[in-house]
Amino acid sequence: MKNFTKQEIEEIYHTPLLELIFRAASVHREHHDAKKVQRCSLLSIKTGGCAEDCSYCPQSSRHEKKMKAEPYMDKEQVLEEAKKAKANGSTRFCMGAAQTRVRNNKDFENVLGMVKGVRELGMEACVTLGMLTKEQADRLKEAGLTAYNHNVDTSEEYYPKIISTRSYQERLDTLEAVGDAGISVCCGGILGMGESDDDHISMLHTLTKLKTAPESIPINALVPCDGTPLGNRPLISALDLARMIATTRILFPKARVRLSAGREVLTISDQALCFLAGASSIFAGDKLLTTPNPEWDRDEMMFQKLGLTAE
Ligand code: SF4
Repeated sequence: MKNFTKQEIEEIYHTPLLELIFRAASVHREHHDAKKVQRCSLLSIKTGGCAEDCSYCPQSSRHEKKMKAEPYMDKEQVLEEAKKAKANGSTRFCMGAAQTRVRNNKDFENVLGMVKGVRELGMEACVTLGMLTKEQADRLKEAGLTAYNHNVDTSEEYYPKIISTRSYQERLDTLEAVGDAGISVCCGGILGMGESDDDHISMLHTLTKLKTAPESIPINALVPCDGTPLGNRPLISALDLARMIATTRILFPKARVRLSAGREVLTISDQALCFLAGASSIFAGDKLLTTPNPEWDRDEMMFQKLGLTAE
C-alpha cells in the first residue's frame, strides 16, 4: 500500500466534491465490480451494561440512560440468526459484545463456537469484543474468524473528548494483535461527533499507518441516542459522508468501505452518492446492534432502483 503523508491526504480530502467522487469512482472501478455491494449482518450477542464510557454509545453503563444489561446469547440462537441473515443475502455475519475486553472464560468459549458455526454456514465471520491479547486472537483465528472489528472511532487528537476509559494506544495495540494473528482488520470510525475535517484527515492517516492495513473500513454516521452525551448532536450531511467515503476509497483501493450506521435517515439518492464514492458494503437488517437500520425490503428496493446486486 502507498504511504500517504498527512498533507497528501489533506489535499485529496479537500478536492472539490464532484471531482473527488469522480476520482474515487474511477479507483473503485479499477479494483471492484461497482455493481456489487456486500450485505453484512450485525447481531448484538451481549447487549448493554458496558463499563466503557464511549459518548456515542447507548450501551455504556456510565450514561444518564442505562440499557438493561443482558447476558451472552446462546450459540444456537445466534446461529439461527446467522441462517436468517444468509437466507436474506448476507455473506458476512458480525457479532458484537458490549464489553471492555475479551476474558478467558466460558463466554469466550461460547463465542469461539459461534465463530465456528458461522463459518460452517459458509459465511464470513467477524466479531467485535473489545480489547484482546495476541493469544486470544490466535484462538479466534483457529476457530476460523475472518475479521475482527475494532474502530479507532475518530482522530487521536479528538479521541479524549469521546472516550476516557481506554486510550487510543490500547486500541492500536488490539489492532496489532489482530493483524499479527493473521485475522483481517476491520477498523473505521464515526462521523458527526463534533469533530473537524482535520480530525477526519488525521483518523484516515492513522488507518494508513496501521501495521496490518484494514481489509474493511466502516464509515459510520453518528446516530444520536437519547441519554448519551452526544444525544443532541445534529446529523452529519450526506455530502460530508460521501467526501469521507471517497477519500477512504482513494487511500484504500482494495478495501471494503462500509457505509455503516446512520443509513436509516439517508435517502436512496444520498446512498447512491456514497456507492458512487466507493462504498462497497452495507449492513442489512432492521437493527444495527441497538440503533435502527433500514429493513431488508427497503434495501432490496434500493438495490433494484440503483441496479446493484448483492455480492
Ligand atoms: S462502543 Fe463498545 S466499548 Fe464503547 S460503551 Fe459501547 S459497547 Fe462499550
